[in-house]
Amino acid sequence: MRYAAYILTNVCRLLLSATFILSGYVKAIDPLGTQYKIKDYLEALSLYGVFPDWTTLAASVTLSAAEFSLGILLLFAIQRRVISRTILALMVIMTVITVWIFFYDPVQDCGCFGDALKLTNGQTLAKNIVLTICAATVAARPMKMPRLISKTNQWIVINYTVIFIFATSLLSLYTLPYFDFRPYHVGADIRKGMEIPEGAPQPEFETTFILKKNGVTKEFTLDNYPDSTWEFVDSKTVQTKKGYVPPIHDFSITLNKTGEDITRQVLDSKGYTFLLISPLLEHADDSNFGNIDRIYEYALDYNIPFYCLTASGEKAIRRWQDITGAEYPFCTTDETTLKTVIRSNPGLMLVKDGVVIRKWSHNMLPDTETLDRPLDKLEIGQADQTSTMTKIMRIMLWFVFPLALLTLADRTWAWTKWIKQKRNKNKLYKLFKHKKMRKKIVAGNWKMNMNLQEGVALAKELNETLNAEKPNCGVIICTPFIHLASVAQILNQDVIALGAENCADKEKGAYTGEVSAEMVKSTGAQYVILGHSERRQYYNETPEILKEKVLLALKNGLKVIFCIGETLEEREAEKQNEVVKAELEGSVFNLSAEEFKNIVIAYEPIWAIGTGKTATAEQAEEIHAYIRSIVAEKYGKETAEDTTILYGGSCKASNAPELFAKPDIDGGLIGGASLKAADFKGIIDAWKK
Ligand code: PEP
Repeated sequence: MRYAAYILTNVCRLLLSATFILSGYVKAIDPLGTQYKIKDYLEALSLYGVFPDWTTLAASVTLSAAEFSLGILLLFAIQRRVISRTILALMVIMTVITVWIFFYDPVQDCGCFGDALKLTNGQTLAKNIVLTICAATVAARPMKMPRLISKTNQWIVINYTVIFIFATSLLSLYTLPYFDFRPYHVGADIRKGMEIPEGAPQPEFETTFILKKNGVTKEFTLDNYPDSTWEFVDSKTVQTKKGYVPPIHDFSITLNKTGEDITRQVLDSKGYTFLLISPLLEHADDSNFGNIDRIYEYALDYNIPFYCLTASGEKAIRRWQDITGAEYPFCTTDETTLKTVIRSNPGLMLVKDGVVIRKWSHNMLPDTETLDRPLDKLEIGQADQTSTMTKIMRIMLWFVFPLALLTLADRTWAWTKWIKQKRNKNKLYKLFKHKKMRKKIVAGNWKMNMNLQEGVALAKELNETLNAEKPNCGVIICTPFIHLASVAQILNQDVIALGAENCADKEKGAYTGEVSAEMVKSTGAQYVILGHSERRQYYNETPEILKEKVLLALKNGLKVIFCIGETLEEREAEKQNEVVKAELEGSVFNLSAEEFKNIVIAYEPIWAIGTGKTATAEQAEEIHAYIRSIVAEKYGKETAEDTTILYGGSCKASNAPELFAKPDIDGGLIGGASLKAADFKGIIDAWKK
């Protein structure tokens, strides 16, 4: 159903845009023809002559530009809502007009497609009803039309279209229509256009007679005509069937001087004839009369007949002669016919053996300098060979190709942008996921350094610094027991969490000198470091003891930073993987997956702790990836991906960025460099790079 609506909307869109583009274009290439049609409508409304000529011409150009542009905008789905509604409104108006012309027949042809396609008023009505339904369909779901061009580049299409269509109209006005759909186009044999083919349907008429007898008046036809006792009153003849009308049916030339009809003489004469065409001389442009006169002189020199055909009367002809010094003979031809022959007033037509060879607007008359030889030796004496295909190709080159190229570039650009966005979205998602599930952490391990006052001062300084400039990762400071309660009061734990460096492996009781996990928790601490190599080494903390400590810590709601790492000898013996695996298995891999979520692993190669020797980023990454893989083996890929694995061992502000850039290193556990706020902050800032 959704697809059906989509397809229907877009089929209607294409039908409407094709119609609007075609009708707009054929009107634009013939602004005068469209103006004549507008005048026909005005005449039908008894408004002829009310509007000055320039307004009807402006209306003609505007109407064609609007139709063409609306078609293009709809095709490109630019301003979809506004355009589809405008088109619907226009179609409703046009349909109302066609209902009127269908029922009252005030104009012969609607003029929708200029001279390119003539429709009967019935066909026009049917066409407009279909198009109005299409327009309503599109206006109902404008957003179902996919864009051909992105919003940022729409202005190029709009401006280019408007400029193109106005330029087309102006060029056609200055020269002649780019395509000539009338029966007097170049190459047309006028005599042939006047022929009625054999067997063509003849017009039929019916006459009604009105007769009177004994005061009674009655109507009769030839079939029931009564006897002579009836007295004839009147008769009416109406055409009941239209006969065949040849394309050229009202072309005649009457020489003004003699009143002689010279139509056949002109059309049948062998060789060239110049016909200067001016429907009305009183409206003719006289700016190029010099050129016309020179062409007339050329015609005289080479014995070429030259006539001026006009519908104007003697007065206008004399005025024209006075202004231009015209000496050529004037002939009378029907005004409408002359307007059809050429869309220029005046315009020049060259006919050879009754065939139209060339047509010129008064602005584009042949250069008189080139008229130095007989016409048959000149290019202008030959029929213009520019084919329709060549003309179509020119439009393609000037309008269709640039827009097609723009669309292609735009779509490629939009597509790459979309791919990038998708990729970024994924990245963001991953980052978000990573941030949420796998925390980046920088944890400080103060070890056995600083008295209470010094510790409090450092905590204060850190708290101020990191609250002023929020870190890009989780920050923890793990302090000696005696600092915990005081530091907890200082820290904003949303920014800096607090942890202990150890806790007892017993829950409570007579263990003099020990501090239980519960006690740690009661200070406000959230973390505890367990399994640090110094505790394993100096206080003999075995995996079993650590296992107990971990369980107690978790039980009391503490999160554990669990340290693992190999000695130098073990590294040299390439036993690091074995060692870390055994440490994890010995103390934390007994936890449930749920419990394991509270474990942060800190990989600390013993040979790097406090020695100034750091594992290279590659070495660290390699073993971090290994640790993650064994977590994955034990708890699954998802848990492994969510486990934070820190690096520890001579980590400083200078090497932190390189280490933290590795995909499996999620931060650091910092010893020496956590004792100065500036050093520690330098490492925290590595996450900002
Ligand atoms: C540590 O003791 O956890 C540690 C990593 O120390 P240092 O940063 O001083 O090497």
